[in-house]
Amino acid sequence: MPANLDRFFQGLSDSQEEKVVAHCEYKRCGSEIYDGQLVTTLDQSIFCNDRCLFNHLGAVTITAGEY
Ligand SMILES: [Zn+2]
Repeated sequence: MPANLDRFFQGLSDSQEEKVVAHCEYKRCGSEIYDGQLVTTLDQSIFCNDRCLFNHLGAVTITAGEY
């Protein structure tokens, strides 16, 4: 009989939940930012990485000479 399943599933939920301290300012991302995570900031805004900052600013990568 599956009497021990409850104990098994409780064991799976043992993983630590990380604390969400902010969300990425880039609206199309909005990822949760966790305590201790490396992030990119500009003024008071916080982004989950530099790509989100570039996107937020409207910066794009192009080939020089084709603009
Ligand atoms: Zn982001």
